[in-house]
Amino acid sequence: MIVVMEPGASRAAVEAVEARIRAAGHGVHVSRGAERTIVGAIGDERRLEPERFEAMPGVERAMHVVKPYRLVSRECRAGRTVVRIGGAAIGGDEVQVIAGPCSVETDAQMASAAEAVARGGARLMRGGAFKPRTSPYAFQGHGVEGLRMLKRAASVRGLPVVTEIMDARMLDAFLAEGVDAVQIGTRNMQNFELLKAVGRVDVPVVLKRGMSATIAEWLMAAEYVAAGGNHRIVLCERGIRTFETAYRNVLDVTAIPFVQRESHLPVIVDPSHAGGKAWMVGALACAAVAGGADGLLVEVHPRPAEAWCDADQALAPDEFGALTTRLAAVAAATGRRLAAAPDPALASIARELEPALS
Ligand code: PEP
Ligand code: MN
Repeated sequence: MIVVMEPGASRAAVEAVEARIRAAGHGVHVSRGAERTIVGAIGDERRLEPERFEAMPGVERAMHVVKPYRLVSRECRAGRTVVRIGGAAIGGDEVQVIAGPCSVETDAQMASAAEAVARGGARLMRGGAFKPRTSPYAFQGHGVEGLRMLKRAASVRGLPVVTEIMDARMLDAFLAEGVDAVQIGTRNMQNFELLKAVGRVDVPVVLKRGMSATIAEWLMAAEYVAAGGNHRIVLCERGIRTFETAYRNVLDVTAIPFVQRESHLPVIVDPSHAGGKAWMVGALACAAVAGGADGLLVEVHPRPAEAWCDADQALAPDEFGALTTRLAAVAAATGRRLAAAPDPALASIARELEPALS
């Protein structure tokens, strides 16, 4: 913390400030300028309250030293950042939905998935070609060929794509294949070389929160990207690990308003990886939109039971359509709008599925 004394503050006033800092167990550094004196507290400053110093005679201002994250913080930019992915804006008035399968499997699967995504009203498509799997024996993704399959299917429906990158060395290939936004997954949130690499290029980054990361660590990860010059960052809360084992992760809804206050970057929510079960996705997605999320990232598969990855949590096309219909109502109830309306034919399906989804 630093305490800025008023010009002409008396020696006694400066000494009183020094004494209070020492009494709290901190070292003191005094800098006497021509005009005014600045007193710095050395050590863990969190126990010092600036307000208590500001009430002292001769003190003009007292403040904590800047937050460890700077570029992504509200201190740096008071307004909200809008990140455009293709033609879709995230962080503006509308709630965006990004949807698609966990992994890219076949051209036929991707074509049906793209149809479901577009009919459900999503404006962006997801699909993993490089998969971070817990087991080395599980399907690892189709790699660059998977990126091509994703782009082919999505472009038929005019959808920009978001897909996970795991290795900085693959970045050129992602850009060459026309990937519209790169996703950094929960397991790579602190892969600093990857963060630096995406920070050097001009491509939107969806930065998932590490499953055991604090908000400060998450924002510091975003700071790495911003520090390289790339400010097109979308933060994605996807559930964290806690003592609870009943479901895959705990969706930290509290993080939405907190991070939006702390940072100017848009915050979206992935309800699929949070709950880990399709039947939970609706409730968590509604909670996220009601809580002010700027968008959602939802796993949708033409035939969830046959999905090669994360089968339990994928929504079927009709379930997805029902969900976006419901989300449009939640958005409206909180004074916002879903970016794109689902196909009207899906509204009747939504009514039929309503009991099953709630
Ligand atoms: C994914 O989006 O498919 C994924 C692996 O997500 P996460 O990094 O949140 O587990
Ligand atoms: Mn997944």
